[in-house]
Amino acid sequence: MAKGQGKVASNKSGIVAALPRACQDETAAVEFLESQRWGETGPCCPRCGDTDVYQMRDRATGERSRRYLWRCKGCSKQYTVRVGTVYEDSPIPLRHWCYAFWKGCSSKKGVSALQIKRETGLSYKSALFLMHRIRWAMAEDYSSQAKLDGIVEADEAYVGGKPRYKQPRTGPRTGPDKKTPVVSLVQRGGNIRSFVTADVTAANVGRILSENVSKESHLMTDSAAIYTTGFIARPFAKHGVTDHSKREYAKPDGTHSNTVESAFALLKRGIYGTFHNVSRKHLHRYVAEFDFRWNARKIDDGARTALAIRKAEGKRLRYREPVQVAP
Ligand SMILES: [Zn+2]
Repeated sequence: MAKGQGKVASNKSGIVAALPRACQDETAAVEFLESQRWGETGPCCPRCGDTDVYQMRDRATGERSRRYLWRCKGCSKQYTVRVGTVYEDSPIPLRHWCYAFWKGCSSKKGVSALQIKRETGLSYKSALFLMHRIRWAMAEDYSSQAKLDGIVEADEAYVGGKPRYKQPRTGPRTGPDKKTPVVSLVQRGGNIRSFVTADVTAANVGRILSENVSKESHLMTDSAAIYTTGFIARPFAKHGVTDHSKREYAKPDGTHSNTVESAFALLKRGIYGTFHNVSRKHLHRYVAEFDFRWNARKIDDGARTALAIRKAEGKRLRYREPVQVAP
């Protein structure tokens, strides 16, 4: 693990400097989002892709139209920077979207809707909507990506859905109040993929592994029975096991699952410390958010914010159903 990773608030991308104003002033927010979306290509029409477009202005004052409209000469339709993004149909001012994107991308353990409510003056319901949309923007469709490779650590954790009464600690966790399992795979030095699953069974975890980890990989897990007694680790080139019950956390040859466990530590601290309680229904959204931040850990806060904003494009509900994360 790289020590102090991501702790330095660097501003290599220069984007952090523009964010405070974009979070205060609506015009600055619109211009910030426009430059993030169209910066290099110019403000092309989101409907037909034409670049022959112009900014609409108020006839009397000559100032930019109050709704920040553009008009496309190709299809002669009007549009704004919101069109075709997760914030298209939202009545929430864009400066609050900028703020929520920024906070959600720069705080290691996430930002709660309550905090967004306090700092923007939005209602709790609006703030929650905002954050869920941002989580949806951050979500990846792993099925369309190359499989994880090299050393891949796999583990599961139980989070959310806090039991209302104490369950006996022996035997399987069953019943409606049980916590929800999350299975995570981390390529060492690379990306994480996490999945909310109904049950930690050999069939479920085996499917997640086979769909996301290349067969040439060196799989590393703890000594949980599903990995050591079943068939699920067999397809992989190598399988290294550390036995936590014997206080074995790392072997001299580099076998350990400490990377995936530190990712879980972050997720758990976020869920219990920032969000306090996350229902099973919404857990996959938070998991997607933590995956996003982990996978973008090597870039600075501003670049990470810009990345999430870019990912908000093409995720409008009306046009495309989400693959992994419901809106
Ligand atoms: Zn057009």
